[in-house]
Amino acid sequence: MSGAAPQDAVRRRHLSVLLRHVHVHGPTSRAELTALTGLNRSTIGALTAELTAAALVRETPQDSATRSGAGRPSLVVAPRGEQHFVLAFDIGVDYLFAARVGLGGKVLDRRDLYRPRGEYPLSDVLVHVRRFAAEILGTAPAQATCVGVGIAVPALVRHADGLARAAPNLVWSDAPLGDGIAAAVAELGGTAPVHVRNDADLGALAEHLRGAGVGSDYVVYVTGEVGVGAGVIIGGRPLTGFGGYSGEVGHTVVNPTGRLCVCGLRGCWETEVGEKAILDAAGRQGARTTVAEIVAAARAGDQRSATAIRHIGGWLAIGVGNLVSIFNPEVMIFGGLFREVFPLVRDQVVATLQTTGLQPPREDVRFVLPGLGADSTLLGAAEVAFGPLLADPLGWDSM
Ligand SMILES: [Zn+2]
Repeated sequence: MSGAAPQDAVRRRHLSVLLRHVHVHGPTSRAELTALTGLNRSTIGALTAELTAAALVRETPQDSATRSGAGRPSLVVAPRGEQHFVLAFDIGVDYLFAARVGLGGKVLDRRDLYRPRGEYPLSDVLVHVRRFAAEILGTAPAQATCVGVGIAVPALVRHADGLARAAPNLVWSDAPLGDGIAAAVAELGGTAPVHVRNDADLGALAEHLRGAGVGSDYVVYVTGEVGVGAGVIIGGRPLTGFGGYSGEVGHTVVNPTGRLCVCGLRGCWETEVGEKAILDAAGRQGARTTVAEIVAAARAGDQRSATAIRHIGGWLAIGVGNLVSIFNPEVMIFGGLFREVFPLVRDQVVATLQTTGLQPPREDVRFVLPGLGADSTLLGAAEVAFGPLLADPLGWDSM
């Protein structure tokens, strides 16, 4: 950008604002974009013409039935998801989700793989990533452009190159995930940039943009699967930490005399509220659907299952109290297996919070379930992949 004329920088910023708006909010009339940006009509027209020429948006006459007021109908600007898309992957301990997501955020194609519990090395995961990428790219229109690849992984990720520094539940350390995916994409003839991020951070990003966190700039997204983590939005921006490693709430110690954690510490919150803790409390063996079965049994009145869920509720309230006191969120979202567990323990958590969280921030917080269901993380991976295009719609691929 250095050396670019100032007016060119301003124009690029306006293009970014417009494209980002229709990407997040969907088709928007030129009149609304004019009101939204404070730019004049002819400027908006010139900018949307540039986006149209680049096949990023399509302009169509507004439907007269939905038009208000007299005068010429305003053109409606819509993102061209079939023309520009990203590949998104959500890598879990026992699953892999893959999707082609169009500009505008719609899932256009997807693949889901569930596997038995086991320790799968990076090389094995990459085989499935490559296979899904090939299948999904194979169904994309020939003239469409893949603008990025986003990957969610339950790991501490070095953002610069996608190195998974520590993924205790995958039993990976310093695994070159970003390089591996870039090589797989290159083999398929792709050149799109690869972005690897922590899964909970991406869940928070997507929920803030399109889910239960819309309208709030202070959001904590807590997710429990085999592991437990959080993504935090403060002042509308993701909290990353210096190295990108913030939000590892699952490895905050809440019970120093408790069980040894996969991370090497003892008594992490994850050891008390993660999937294994729930299974142990209920005296069950692990499989992907077991937590749902325990929740269903507890609802149906099975005492052992109800006691197990109540035990988890108590420990959940301790960690939630800490998060409320530290971050003062307006919205706290419970994702992953907490989507099933939290509704059962909501009253218990709220009651216990009286003794585990400070009152003023406690009064501010709302507890909700994800607006995007089980797809928060996958859609977050898509959003991070759209980042460079949205930041510089006409210059992203020449950077
Ligand atoms: Zn731990």
